[in-house]
Amino acid sequence: MALEMRPICEKCETGLAHDAKAYICSHECTFCGSCTVAMDGVCPNCGGELVRRPRRKMEG
Ligand SMILES: [Zn+2]
Ligand SMILES: [Zn+2]
Repeated sequence: MALEMRPICEKCETGLAHDAKAYICSHECTFCGSCTVAMDGVCPNCGGELVRRPRRKMEG
């Protein structure tokens, strides 16, 4: 199963482009940068650590 790249922040529903600054937890909850900062980098859904979502694997 491929990682699903969610296109919006789960909290404020801001659109997140593939190369946008987005954060994701191990359960694939996805948030924008401002929400992640506001939540201290902790996922409100599962309590996991939010890390910078990698850009698309295929670069160039
Ligand atoms: Zn947000
Ligand atoms: Zn989570």
